[in-house]
Amino acid sequence: MASISNAFSLSLPSNRIANSSSDFNPITSALSLRVNKPAKVSLFGLDSGEFSPGRVAVSKPSGIGGRICANATPVMDQPVGEKSSGAPTIVEVDLGNRSYPIYIGSGLLDQPELLQNFDRHVHGKKVIVVTNTTIAPLYLDKVVEALTKGNTAVSVEYVILPDGEKFKDMDTLMKVFDKANESRLDRRCTFVALGGGVIGDMCGFAAASFLRSVNFIQIPTTVMAQVDSSVGGKTGINHPLGKNLIGAFYQPQCVLIDTDTLDTLPDRELASGLAEVIKYGLIRDAEFFEWQEKNMEKLIARNPNALAYAIKRSCENKAEVVSFDEKESGLRATLNLGHTFGHTIETGFGYGQWLHGEAVAAGTVMAVDMSYRLGWIDSSIVKRVDDILLRAKLPTAPPETMTVEMFKSVMAVDKKVADGLLRLILLKGPLGNCVFTGFLLIEVHCRSLVPSCNVSIYDKPIKIKHIY
Ligand code: NAD
Repeated sequence: MASISNAFSLSLPSNRIANSSSDFNPITSALSLRVNKPAKVSLFGLDSGEFSPGRVAVSKPSGIGGRICANATPVMDQPVGEKSSGAPTIVEVDLGNRSYPIYIGSGLLDQPELLQNFDRHVHGKKVIVVTNTTIAPLYLDKVVEALTKGNTAVSVEYVILPDGEKFKDMDTLMKVFDKANESRLDRRCTFVALGGGVIGDMCGFAAASFLRSVNFIQIPTTVMAQVDSSVGGKTGINHPLGKNLIGAFYQPQCVLIDTDTLDTLPDRELASGLAEVIKYGLIRDAEFFEWQEKNMEKLIARNPNALAYAIKRSCENKAEVVSFDEKESGLRATLNLGHTFGHTIETGFGYGQWLHGEAVAAGTVMAVDMSYRLGWIDSSIVKRVDDILLRAKLPTAPPETMTVEMFKSVMAVDKKVADGLLRLILLKGPLGNCVFTGFLLIEVHCRSLVPSCNVSIYDKPIKIKHIY
C-alpha cells in the first residue's frame, strides 16, 4: 500500500481512491480518459495533448538517422566479478550531424587512441581539462597522459575548481573562463570535463558559451554522471532560486566512461547514481527494472559487470530518448521522474546537503505515491519502488525539516512550469509506463503536515492535461 507518511497525498474522499488503474479513477473519468486507450485531452483552452499508453513509440523527426546501437556482447555474459578490459562497448547518441559515441569499459583511460581521435573528438591543439579538487589528484595525470601520449602537438591546460554542488554557480564558472582566456584558448580548442555531474554540467556550459561555443568532451567519474548527466547535452549552473536554471543544450563530441574510476567513488555517491538507474526502469524499461530487482545487491557491492551492464543499459535508454527529443519538447521530460520534488529538496534544503540522487529518490517516492492515489498504478508498483530504493540505500521520504512553503515556492519556479501549469512526470499503467502531466499551479497545494511535509492536491476537481 502507499505510504501516507511520506506521501504526495491527494485529498480525495477515501472511497474515490482506486486500488488499481483499471478501477474508478476520479481524474481520468472526469476527463473521459482511460489508461488503455489513446485519448485526446483539451483543457483550459490549451492545445490538445495526446496520450498514448504503453512503451514510448514515437516517430523520429526526419533529418535524424536511425536508432542507437550498442556494439558489444552483453556485459552480463561475462564472468561475474571480473573486470573486462579491452574494446569498449559503444552506444551511439544519434543526433544527425551532432551524433557522438559513448565509450564504456574498464581501463579506457589507458587507451589514448580513444581520446586522440583528433578528427572527431579533439579539435585544434589546445585542450583545457576542467575538474575539481577531489578528482584532480586521482585522475588528472591519467587524462593528460591519455590526451598527449605519443602526440606532442597538443598542449593541455587545466583548471581545478572547488568541489561541491554549492559551487555550481556563476562565480565558479567564471574561473573556467578566466583560465581559458589567460591560456589564450581559441575557437579550435577543446574543453574536457573530468568529474561528476557538477563538473560535467559546468564544463559543458562553459564550452557552450566560451567564444560562442567550442569543442567539448565528457569523462564522467560518478555513477550519476556515467548513467545520466554526461549524455544528452544538458549543461548549466544553479541559481539561488532553483536548480539548473541557467544553462544550454550543448552536445559533447564523445563521452568516455572508464568504469574503473568508480573504484574510488564513495558508497553514498554510488547509491545516489542508482536513483537514476532505477528511474529508467520505471519510466520506460520494465525488463531493466526487473533485472535491477535481481541484481541490486551486486550493484551496491560494485560488481564490475553488474555496474557495466547498468551503465550501458542506462546510456542506451538515455540516448534513445535524447535522439527522439533533444530539446525536451515532450518525451525527454519523462526522464525527470521525481525531479521536480527532488530539485525542491535540493534547493530548499541547501545545495549539497542531500545528494542529487538522494533527493530524486525521495521525489520518486512522492511521484509514485501520487500516481497511485490518482488510481493510475497498482499498489504493487508502489511497494516495488519503495523496496528497490531501500535496497539501493536511498531515502524514501523528504527531509522532515522541509516545510510546505519551501515546496511551494521552489516548485513554482521549476523549469517545467509553463503557461501556468506545473508539469509532473507520473507513472501510469503497467510498470515501465509514464505520462508527462500538467496541473494548474493554483490547484497544487502543499498541506502543512508536521513532521513530514506532504504536498497535496485537493479542494477542487483536479484538472489535468497530458502533455506527453
Ligand atoms: P558530483 O559531481 O558533485 O560528484 C559527487 C562527489 O563525488 C563529488 O565530491 C566529486 O568530487 C566526487 N567524485 C566524483 N568522481 C569521483 C571518483 N571517481 N572518485 C572519488 N570521488 C569522486 O555529483 P554527481 O552526483 O555526479 O552529479 C550531480 C549533479 O549532476 C547535479 O548538479 C545534477 O543537477 C547534475 N545532473 C545533470 C544531469 C544532466 O542531464 N545534465 C542529469 C543528472 C544530474
